[in-house]
Formats: sequence, structure tokens, C-alpha cells
Amino acid sequence: MAENDNRPGNTVTTTSLDREIGIRLKEHDARYTRGRRLVVATLAGSDGPKSAAELQANIGSSLPLSSLYRSLAVLGTVGVVVPHFTKKGVARYELAEWLQGHHHHLVCLDCGAVEDLALPQSYEEKVRELVEGIGSTVSFTPVNHAFDIEGICSRCA
Ligand SMILES: [Zn+2]
Ligand SMILES: [Zn+2]
Repeated sequence: MAENDNRPGNTVTTTSLDREIGIRLKEHDARYTRGRRLVVATLAGSDGPKSAAELQANIGSSLPLSSLYRSLAVLGTVGVVVPHFTKKGVARYELAEWLQGHHHHLVCLDCGAVEDLALPQSYEEKVRELVEGIGSTVSFTPVNHAFDIEGICSRCA
């Protein structure tokens, strides 16, 4: 990955991603159906969380909307997909961090676009230090953190 590339690095290749997800689904007596594979492949190729409508636009009519929602529900239940909410209340979906890697989000207050943001390691270490410092002041043991940076994207600026 290029040094100034702020996109999250895929922690696994698509093949091993599919294998991991297949195993997880099997543990829950669920199959890795065509619809679920389409949703996963689309999310894996996205630069940020996608709403059901955005997924539908990407995947096309080969997956009916009802099947898309059902796939999202099952993938959510087994912990493969997690929702991300902005203040506008739209649910967008992404692969969970154990599949996608740790990252944050850039939220445009104008157009509503949500993009993934993987911090350079030096920044991530500063964030962890800050979070642990805050935790110690309130007798709370942080194990993870998540945040959105709200602002105006380059297309809206
Ligand atoms: Zn924007
Ligand atoms: Zn972080």
C-alpha cells in the first residue's frame, strides 16, 4: 500500500475473505448464498459503507431488493456486516473490522457521502494513547474506538 494511501488495507484477499465468511456462516448453520456473495463482493470493493439503495444500484436487478435486505440481515446476524449510521439516520453497511481492518469514517455534511479512513500508524497510535488517557480518567478500560470526522468532502468544497 502506498504511504499516502488513506484507504484501509484489506487484511485478507477476496479468496480468504470468502473462506472466512463461509466458515462464519457455517458456524451459524447458514449458507453462503449467491446473494450474500454479491453483497460481500460489492462491500469489499467499496470505498466506504453503502446503503441498501447504493448496494442495489451497484449489484443491479439480478438480486431483488427483498433478497438484498435478507442477505444484509443474515450477514449482520453472524457478524460479517455491521451498520454505520450518520446523524441523518441512513443505515449504511460495511464489512466488520475483523474482515476489513480497523478504520474510521469521513462523513460529508453536504452530500452525505461516507468514506473509509485508515489512519497512518503514527496517527492511530496517538489516537489510542488519547483514548487510553481518557479511559483512565473515568475508570474505563478501552478496548477499541470508532469515530467519524464530519466535514465537507472534496466534491462539495
Ligand atoms: Zn460531499
Ligand atoms: Zn482508530
